[in-house]
Amino acid sequence: MPSQADAITVNQTRLRLLQGDITRQVSDAIVNAANSGLMGGGGVDGAIHRAGGPAILEECKQIVARQGRLPTGQAVMTTGGNLKAKHVIHTVGPIWRGGHQGEPELLASAYRESLKLAAESNLESLAFPSISTGVYGYPASEAARVAIGTVIAFLSQGKPPLKEVAFVLFDSRTFAAYAAALSTAAGETGLS
Ligand code: ADP
Repeated sequence: MPSQADAITVNQTRLRLLQGDITRQVSDAIVNAANSGLMGGGGVDGAIHRAGGPAILEECKQIVARQGRLPTGQAVMTTGGNLKAKHVIHTVGPIWRGGHQGEPELLASAYRESLKLAAESNLESLAFPSISTGVYGYPASEAARVAIGTVIAFLSQGKPPLKEVAFVLFDSRTFAAYAAALSTAAGETGLS
């Protein structure tokens, strides 16, 4: 079981940070930090496909056949296959190239498009990994600021059906980066 450490409420949605393995998360959807080909890969992408089984890859192939590769910052949804999550939202974060190639905007878009898809699909719970901070090399503290800020902005804007948005962070360093970003954002916005 991941241990709960930090949370705030935004417009009746609970935003929580957990440390653990996102493939074990019980949720309406978990988000996959995919790549544009949607064919699986390493890191969290590989873990989700391994745990979820072939039905997820099958749907990914159909999506790519229909609409082509998924551009960075966009999101699509498939079944959760054998996962405890009912659905997987696949999004593509940016590769870090120093921070001046539109990376923050593209990372924000990956979070925003995933949230939009979840809200449009009437999902009540959603879990994110730390998109782009593994193989894609985005510095965790900067990514955490974008991730937390984008989720708070999205939840502040309307009344999405989401009751809970969780970040499920694999390692303690990444967890600490998100905890710092969350407490900074809570201080700035007055949310608790
Ligand atoms: P990207 O290519 O977007 O950088 P990675 O999968 O390489 O994606 O890494 C993104 C983050 O996901 C990293 O912090 C990595 O430690 C984390 N991660 C890897 N496996 C899991 C998992 N099973 N659950 C949650 N997070 C994971």
